Amino acid sequence: MAKIGFIGLGNMGLPMAQNLLKAGHGVQGFDLSKAQADALAASGGQAAASVKAAASGAEIVITMLPAGQHVRDVYLGAEGVLSSAGAGTLLIDCSTIDVASARDVAAAAETKGLAMLDAPVSGGVGGAQAGTLTFMVGGGDKAFARALPLLEKMGKTIVHAGGAGNGQAAKICNNMILGVSMIAVSEAFVLAEKLGLDAQKLFDISSKSSGQCWSMTTYCPVPGPVPGSPANRDYKAGFTAAMMLKDLKLAQDAAKAAGANTPLGADAVRIYSEFVESGEGPRDFSGVIRFVRGA
Ligand code: NAD
Repeated sequence: MAKIGFIGLGNMGLPMAQNLLKAGHGVQGFDLSKAQADALAASGGQAAASVKAAASGAEIVITMLPAGQHVRDVYLGAEGVLSSAGAGTLLIDCSTIDVASARDVAAAAETKGLAMLDAPVSGGVGGAQAGTLTFMVGGGDKAFARALPLLEKMGKTIVHAGGAGNGQAAKICNNMILGVSMIAVSEAFVLAEKLGLDAQKLFDISSKSSGQCWSMTTYCPVPGPVPGSPANRDYKAGFTAAMMLKDLKLAQDAAKAAGANTPLGADAVRIYSEFVESGEGPRDFSGVIRFVRGA
């Protein structure tokens, strides 16, 4: 069983680390919030007092942090992971961050002789708790093979997407589809309302026709047709509008850097920005239908 350093024990990181403990691994965890590290200790792990303490002596270091700057600080800082981890330690960043930061930090790790993977996830807090996350992994073949048995303790679908940064690329492309398609489905339901077409009827037809998509059939933004969707619980998240906005902005940054033309992605940023600025950031992203209806 491996000795794992886990840094970033928030909504996602804590249940992921707890699944590693359940699988019999040893986990030494650090979070800026002592309460989160204490919660890990209460589940049978060890609370570490710093990044350095979490990384020291670990065979594998996993991070689950808010954004690119946090990942740069935690890995590249004076007492960061790269200066604290021993030779042969495998590094896995599961945060959702910009592709450039993922590639920069992986390159810095390589100069120290350390293999690093970017392995962002989808599946949310529910998936983290249930151990059913999807991991999109960028990095070398050997590092992926080494990480796989561990990722399988936290997730159900694990896909090797290519070299460093490709996990992040897959994540932001997927979420750009999701953000845009949720707006498209919302616009269709609002138009149907105005045309006197019942929402259930539109669902019955479109969910079996060419308009069918995940935003329609799993996360339907109107209450009724899909009983489990956040629309039936006043858009309680789920996946917050603020997080969707973060991922859509990452996609736009990447599109600009790569010279890709993504006008619908750009419009989605504008629409979710206004929705979040109206105070709805903590609401589920499918609540954007309220903005579409009112706009
Ligand atoms: P969170 O804010 O709940 O957790 C992040 C944790 O990192 C916090 O506990 C914070 O104290 C800690 N942290 C920040 N800087 C630190 C540092 N320097 N050292 C140690 N700890 C530090 O966020 P979350 O919901 O767990 O999300 C984490 C990542 O996962 C984000 O990149 C997010 O985009 C991604 N993600 C989240 C979800 C979701 O549904 N919550 C789904 C998919 C992906």
